Amino acid sequence: MSIPIGIMLSIKSCTNALSKQTGIKVNLIKASSAELIKRIEKEGKYTKADVLLTTDVGMLELARSKGIFQPIDSDFLDKTIPAYLRDKDNLWFGLTKRARVIAYNIDEVSASELSTYSALTAPKWKERIVITKSTEVYNQSLLASFIVKDGKEKATQWAEGIKANMARKPTGVDKDSLRSIAAGLGDVAIANTYYIGQMKHGKSISDQATAEVVGIFFPNQGKDEGGTHINISGAGVVAHAKHKANAVKFIEFLVSVEAQEAFAKVNFEYPVNAEAKVSDLLLSWGIFKEDHTSLYQNRYPKQRSRQNVSPYRMG
Ligand code: FE
Repeated sequence: MSIPIGIMLSIKSCTNALSKQTGIKVNLIKASSAELIKRIEKEGKYTKADVLLTTDVGMLELARSKGIFQPIDSDFLDKTIPAYLRDKDNLWFGLTKRARVIAYNIDEVSASELSTYSALTAPKWKERIVITKSTEVYNQSLLASFIVKDGKEKATQWAEGIKANMARKPTGVDKDSLRSIAAGLGDVAIANTYYIGQMKHGKSISDQATAEVVGIFFPNQGKDEGGTHINISGAGVVAHAKHKANAVKFIEFLVSVEAQEAFAKVNFEYPVNAEAKVSDLLLSWGIFKEDHTSLYQNRYPKQRSRQNVSPYRMG
């Protein structure tokens, strides 16, 4: 079975375990999500791909909109993965959860000053916010979730407010945002939590130092607030898969407690299977209320293309 993998999920150990248990051999192909989607689309019925694994619901939705996936009927997946983390027609399934939070320099900001995503648009944060470009899929998904929940107008106001408070022009990736606030080029960043785990446990001494001075704040935790924005890494079975049954088995295996705990440990992401243990590092960041807005509402490209046209553009 061939599985293009658009992410650095450490799934090698999972595929080895799967082979041992079931005899299914998995061939992994790594490339960017966009490249893999383009390739599978072009290959059509000649594709060797059985499963597409990728990060961000935006990419899963892009793949869905190109007709790359087929619906999957699996009681285990339906029962184990909460409905808000899978496509309504079961074309894709969330495998891990990631939280997009407010990260802050602990020497400059106290957690008590932080509350919601929208509070970051207050004048108090002028020239203090660091974020990646609005064209980045993580930001597009975040903003798309605001559009779904609060409507276009409020989402626009938010994007404009963030833009007005930026400490620097958006550049780089989330890790660069975290490095910037550690270096004093800003005080708060919007970033995914697993990068802090990666930096803390990575080889770079300066990244380790960055992780030491960056605090994690889960926004929108109040009674009437919807919870912290959640995204996923996920997978779907390719429409022209030659090994459909094994492809489904593989996705089911990735959602098993065993695989979920392995992911959580190496990826610093959250399991979708409620029976899997969250790693100690993640527990140390705290338990939080998640935004349960169904991710399939986060349609690509409808919400996103709008965002890339002014005034959704943040930078
Ligand atoms: Fe990432």
